[in-house]
Amino acid sequence: MPRYCCVPGCNNSGGHLFPTESSLSLKWRVAIRRIDPNTKKLWSPGKHDTVCSSHFTAEDYRETLQGERKRLKRNAVPSVFSFSIKPDFESPRQKRQQRKEERTQRSEAEAILSMTVQHEIELKELDIWPSREIIDEHMPDDFARKYPATRVILDATEIPIAKPSNVDAQSMTWSTYKHKNTLKTMVGCSPRGVITYVSESYGGSASDRQIIEDSDLVDQNSKMFVSGDSIMADRGIMVQDLFAPRDVHVNTPTMLKGKSQLDATEVVRDRRIASKRIHVERLIGLCKKFKILCTPLLPSKVLLGSRIVFVCFSITNFRKCIVDQTA
Ligand SMILES: [Zn+2]
Repeated sequence: MPRYCCVPGCNNSGGHLFPTESSLSLKWRVAIRRIDPNTKKLWSPGKHDTVCSSHFTAEDYRETLQGERKRLKRNAVPSVFSFSIKPDFESPRQKRQQRKEERTQRSEAEAILSMTVQHEIELKELDIWPSREIIDEHMPDDFARKYPATRVILDATEIPIAKPSNVDAQSMTWSTYKHKNTLKTMVGCSPRGVITYVSESYGGSASDRQIIEDSDLVDQNSKMFVSGDSIMADRGIMVQDLFAPRDVHVNTPTMLKGKSQLDATEVVRDRRIASKRIHVERLIGLCKKFKILCTPLLPSKVLLGSRIVFVCFSITNFRKCIVDQTA
C-alpha cells in the first residue's frame, strides 16, 4: 500500500520516515504543524509515516558516493510548506471566517502593490541622500566627537520570500545566513537616524560586497561622497578598497585575522563603533515591522521586491526620529 506524506494538505506519496532520535523527531513534528484532531495536541507519527521530499530544501540533501541518488542529511528538518496548509481541525464556521480573513489580506496585499509603484515614483523624486552640510548640521553630539566624518552607516538587510519553483532562482535567493530564501538589500542611514540609501534588492546569496560593487555608491559619476567622508559598516562588509581611490574611509570593527584575541584598544574601538552602528540596526528593525516585509513574499510579487523594500524603508523617514541629538 502506498504511503502518503503526512504533512497536512500534501497529497504526495513516498518520502522520508520520521527520524528515530526523539529530539529530531519532535523538530519534524513541530515543523509540519499537524495537530491530532482528538487531543488537539501535536500529532505523533507511526512507524511508517513519512514526509515527502517536497518539504526539504536542496541543502537538506547530500550526494551519495555514486553521486546521483541524494540522501537526506542527518539533521535535516522539513522546512518547505505551502501557505494554504492549515491544521485541519477547524469547524466549518472557523473555516469560513478564515477564508474571509484570507480574502481581506489578499485584497490588502494587492492594494499595497498597486500603490507601491505609484509611491516609488513619488518617493524617488525626493532625493534622500543628504549633502555633507546637512549631515554635519544634524550630527548627534557624541557622534560628532567620535566619528565626525561619517556620511552614512551601511548595513545589509534580508526579507523572506517564498521558495521559488525554479532551481536556479532557489539557489540565487538562498541565504546561508538566514537559512531561507530571501531578498537582500543594502540600507544606509545618516548618523541622526534617517534612511538615506536603499540599494536595489538581490537574491539572498549575493554578498554585501557584490551589492555595493554594483551600486551607485561606488559609481564615480554619482558623486555621492566627498573626499574625507567615512562610511560605518559591519565587519562582514569588506569594501575598503572600493572606496579608497576616492579618499573615502570605511570604518568597520576589527577582524580577528588569525589573532585569537583583540588588544584592549581594539576592543574599545569596536565597542564605540558598535554603539553607533546600533542606530542603523534599530532603524532597520523598525522598517521591517511592515507586515508585507515579515511574511514571505509570494513568487508573483518577488519582481516587485526592490520597489516594496524601497517604499517601506523610505516611508519610515516620516516617523518620529528614533536617534537622539545627544546620541
Ligand atoms: Zn508532502
